[in-house]
Amino acid sequence: MKINKERLLEMLHDLKEFTDTPGNGVTRFSFGVQDATAREYILERAVEAGCSVDIDALQNIRIGLKTNSPDKDIVMAGSHIDTVRHGGWLDGIYGVCGALEVMLTLAEYADAALAGDKSVFSLDDLKANYEMVIFSEEEGSNFGSTMTGSKFVTGFYKEEDLGKLRDDKGKTLRQRLIELPVTDEEDEDSLDVYSMDYFDSGEILWDFNEIKTMLELHIEQGPVLDSEGLSIGIVDAIYGMRVIEVTLTGVGNHAGATPMGIRYDALCTAAECVLAAEEIVKSDEDERIVATIGKLSVFPDCSNVIPQEVKFTVEVRDKDEAKINEYMDSIIERIYNIASARRVGCVINEHSKSSPLYLTKSLRNDMEKLAKDKGLAYKVMDSGAVHDACMIANFVDTGMIFVPSIDGRSHVPEENTNEKDLITGVQFLLDVVLNEMKTEV
Ligand SMILES: [Zn+2]
Repeated sequence: MKINKERLLEMLHDLKEFTDTPGNGVTRFSFGVQDATAREYILERAVEAGCSVDIDALQNIRIGLKTNSPDKDIVMAGSHIDTVRHGGWLDGIYGVCGALEVMLTLAEYADAALAGDKSVFSLDDLKANYEMVIFSEEEGSNFGSTMTGSKFVTGFYKEEDLGKLRDDKGKTLRQRLIELPVTDEEDEDSLDVYSMDYFDSGEILWDFNEIKTMLELHIEQGPVLDSEGLSIGIVDAIYGMRVIEVTLTGVGNHAGATPMGIRYDALCTAAECVLAAEEIVKSDEDERIVATIGKLSVFPDCSNVIPQEVKFTVEVRDKDEAKINEYMDSIIERIYNIASARRVGCVINEHSKSSPLYLTKSLRNDMEKLAKDKGLAYKVMDSGAVHDACMIANFVDTGMIFVPSIDGRSHVPEENTNEKDLITGVQFLLDVVLNEMKTEV
């Protein structure tokens, strides 16, 4: 069974235009006008192919193949369509277009089989149903919390979080759900792209007993596949992380009148800490663990005042939790030592933490065998970024497929992947979906 590669590329290029920042990357936040337009584009194609559409109160969309039957388990594929500000054209939407292309291809073959053409496959061969999913608000662009849609369907977020999550204008998620953009009511053909159902904690939760497999196709967002000239990555582990918040308190003073020898400069201390964190993780023999100081604020932030207080975060990621803790603990120790040698006050708080996650081994092995059979240039690899599939992986067999990101760039307008790899990724997704649908639970 072959995907329609022209259709796939056309969908991707069309959807790229649904952005708030034309000519400067894709900016498509959940619950905005561009989000509504992208949803309509996707739903139109699904409905045309006879698919069923179900939208929950959080605006996650599930689309089912028309030949699905109620007594079979579900093989599911999907991702998200929202982006960061000035993001790339493939993050998230590639996995959605891939899952849609798989849906449209399956629908065509099912039609042919129903019409009596059994040359390719018979519907009786399919032991499972196929559904695609679009998770809402994965990037956290509105509410600063990632994987929001998938956190609700898994019960990680509950009804009270609707009032806790706020966008940068102070509006809660609950308010934003009430104020969703309406599509043209005059137009009789226009589709409901949002659900107006009131949030029901029972209804939002997925029944994981009916789901057999979850698959997410995504761009790698890192340089590994591109630099090694490979087409497919089969994900083994997703990195966990630990984040701390450091506050250094020195003495603010006149920038001209205070000699260098008697300064207690919080920023100079922070600078030493930043480089120490880099040095500590760089000593790792596996060259795998990463540390990032991505947020730093200086008080009072004036050119003529010695910095009195600096706050910064340190984030450490790896696939081995013990290693994350070991390296983070030595970074913390070094920060205390640096601050004390400079006689600057230091308070460190734990900010957040997530454990590394291993995707389903049997599924990974099946995917590897399939990639070998198809002669694909692939590797089993880890993901430094988190994805919706991580939330689902706690409940059902879950697999992730990566395609290369050119120069490893992502979340920027330059984000790109070769057409050949885009096509290979979706064809491989179809092959994995079929393989899963054909095997008994
Ligand atoms: Zn993504």
